[in-house]
Amino acid sequence: MADILKHYDVVVIGAGPAGYIAAIRSAQLGFKTACIEKWINPEGQQVLGGTCLNVGCIPSKALLASSEEFEKITTHASHHGIVVKGASFDLKAMLARKDSIVSKMTKGIEFLFKKNKIDWLKGEGQFIGSDADKVSIAVKGLKDSDSQSLSAGHVIIATGSKARHLPNIPVDNKLICDNEGALAFDKVPAKLGVIGAGVIGLELGSVWRRLGASVHVLEATPQFLAACDESVSKEAFKLFTQQGLKIEMGIRINEVKASAKGVTVAYKPAEGAATELQFDRLIVSVGRVPNTENLNLEAVGLSVNEQGFIPVDDCCATANPRIFAVGDVVRGPMLAHKGEDEGVMVAERIAGQATHIDYNCIPWVIYTMPEIAWVGKTEQQLKVEGRAYKAGQFPFMANGRALGMDAPEGFVKILADAKTDELLGVHIVSVAASDLISEAAVAMEFKASAEDIARICHPHPSLSEVVREAALAVDKRALNM
Ligand SMILES: Cc1cc2nc3c(=O)[nH]c(=O)nc-3n(C[C@H](O)[C@H](O)[C@H](O)COP(=O)(O)OP(=O)(O)OC[C@H]3O[C@@H](n4cnc5c(N)ncnc54)[C@H](O)[C@@H]3O)c2cc1C
Repeated sequence: MADILKHYDVVVIGAGPAGYIAAIRSAQLGFKTACIEKWINPEGQQVLGGTCLNVGCIPSKALLASSEEFEKITTHASHHGIVVKGASFDLKAMLARKDSIVSKMTKGIEFLFKKNKIDWLKGEGQFIGSDADKVSIAVKGLKDSDSQSLSAGHVIIATGSKARHLPNIPVDNKLICDNEGALAFDKVPAKLGVIGAGVIGLELGSVWRRLGASVHVLEATPQFLAACDESVSKEAFKLFTQQGLKIEMGIRINEVKASAKGVTVAYKPAEGAATELQFDRLIVSVGRVPNTENLNLEAVGLSVNEQGFIPVDDCCATANPRIFAVGDVVRGPMLAHKGEDEGVMVAERIAGQATHIDYNCIPWVIYTMPEIAWVGKTEQQLKVEGRAYKAGQFPFMANGRALGMDAPEGFVKILADAKTDELLGVHIVSVAASDLISEAAVAMEFKASAEDIARICHPHPSLSEVVREAALAVDKRALNM
């Protein structure tokens, strides 16, 4: 390994949303900053953006939008009195559109790095050691001549996560796929199996169902979307199965076999005898595991916990005072915006500021149709905590804008403290729930009460009126119901 020639104030390892935002904020604060990133895309190009931009949030939302447009034309247009005959789609063009959005976004990060004078060190970062003043890191480039060693006053680990694979189910990303293969099927499978009814399974299952696949989702846990408020998961289960997703809960996978004919999944259903299903393709979406291999954490006195995460405190500090860790590689929801906020927090803390995050105010979103979004506590959580609460709920079918949009499904549910009326949780199932939830996140950050939302003038007609009506319903005084 080459001698240490360069010193940076801050080095970030990983340029996903947690890492590239940490690097940009560090540079804004005046730190000499570098970001090490090793990602190589299928075209063999070294790119920034991590999972989110390359094989996660951005490409999945592009395909969700395209498939939704198609479903709107084939199913919903007639509700508006629009007659469309013989609608079809060009999958190659749809995938090319997705790829061009990914490329625009990853190049955008490159531009931002240049603008902020951040050095992108292409290759894999590995710790060499640390002392009281600095941390030493090796960067292993694609070629030996690209490899280098450097030192940093502070290091931010943002190495993210990768798809969890199951033992004895070899993912080849052709027949048996994780998120990477499932975002690039070359044709719509007639029969698609999905193992795992989590966010990624439901989103990608919905994409291929809308494009014509018969989709069967197999989930080991007995409770559908266990992290959601129970009323939301019940509503979502009803709506998704009405749309045609077949979802089986409480199953146990016995064996998965790939052959020239496709994939056979042998499993034990929640009730009844063991059985098997034949699919053309299978998506395995059973969660994600943190990326820490090859980091050589031991060299800087760090290790991972039982789940593979790097232990950190509430402010993302590790056991080494010169090293922080953010994003999917640490505890908390594996969400891009959670990682981004941690990146900002850590950069500002290195600069001596007292920034912190209220993790209870981080919104969660599932981009199915309708979307599901929530912030704060679920009713189940409040019951376990023994906290007295009031609930208000209002349906979109009583909202003129939702009816005009042909989107009457879903509701807003607001949970507030029984005594103080402080907002404790807001749960939304609806079109555009991902945007509507921001009002609730802002309100919760400001420690607002349900009455505060109820008293704020909301535009008419708009979906946001349902949020206000749910707030009024907390006090049993919804106006339009
Ligand atoms: C299909 C799918 C859809 C998703 N949709 C959403 C969504 O809609 N909204 C949302 O909030 N979240 C979504 N997520 C989750 C989101 O992508 C992650 O939470 C987010 O990418 C985590 O950001 P990160 O920066 O921590 O890690 P990552 O994005 O995983 O980036 C980590 C980066 O570190 C690099 N790296 C790792 N080790 C090293 C090393 N030793 N040296 C150099 N570089 C290294 C990797 O190459 C990678 O580029 C989705 C995920 C998937 C898979």
